[in-house]
Parts: sequence; C-alpha cells; structure tokens
Amino acid sequence: MSIFEKIVAGEIPCHRIYEDEHVLAFLDIGPLSRGHCLLIPKVCYVELGEMPAEVGAALGRVMPRLCSAVKAATGCDGVNVLQNNGGAAGQVVMHVHFHFIPRYTAKSPHAGLEFNWPAG
Ligand code: 5GP
Repeated sequence: MSIFEKIVAGEIPCHRIYEDEHVLAFLDIGPLSRGHCLLIPKVCYVELGEMPAEVGAALGRVMPRLCSAVKAATGCDGVNVLQNNGGAAGQVVMHVHFHFIPRYTAKSPHAGLEFNWPAG
C-alpha cells in the first residue's frame, strides 16, 4: 500500500482540501512554499502513463478549481503545477500526484519561503 493510499484510507492524517469519488487534494507535509498541495487519484498508479484516461479526466476536471482555490486561499502571485514520473524525474512517492506550488513575488509577505524551481 502506498503512503498516499494510506492517506486516502485515513490511516495517515492529512489536511484535506478537496475530495470526490475519484480524487483527493491535501496539503503537502513538506511544503516548498506556503500552501503547497497535492492532487492524487484515490487508486494507486505509479506513473502517469499507467493511468486510465478516465482517471486522468477525473483529475483534470478538478485542476482548474483547485488552482483557483489555491490562489484565493494563499494570495499567491502564481502557481506551478508539477508532476514527476520515475525516480530519475524526482518522483519519491510512487503514486501519481500533481504538485500545486504557490509562487510569491519578492514583494509578498511570504516571499521568504520561496524555492528555486525551475533551476537556471
Ligand atoms: P515527489 O517527489 O514524489 O513528486 O513528491 C512527493 C511529495 O509527497 C513530497 O512533496 C512530500 O513532501 C510529500 N509527502 C510525502 N509523504 C507525505 C505524507 O505522509 N503526507 C503528506 N501530506 N505529504 C507527503
């Protein structure tokens, strides 16, 4: 069972943001910036390429609202949506997930929590 399946099952606590029959969004335990959250399918697929199109559609249906909600809740200036496939791509948790990472300009009171991505 993946860590995220345990979160779905309620065996590991998390701060839930949104949930429906197919997907769950919750705050990342190690946020790269204030408000960093994850969107996952409730069923575990390791990589995006393994996922049935219907599951992708269920995730896609939620993304616009989740992105707007993250902006409204954090007051951020932008949001990176990031998704890693495979260890070589930086994937650590082997259950498909999309990162929603709020970005803050230097003028924001939360600018100190900024991270350096993309590099270069
Ligand atoms: P990856 O590097 O696989 O794309 O990202 C995995 C993400 O899952 C990381 O940002 C990490 O902080 C987050 N994460 C790992 N374990 C937990 C957990 O138990 N709870 C929550 N809320 N996030 C987790």
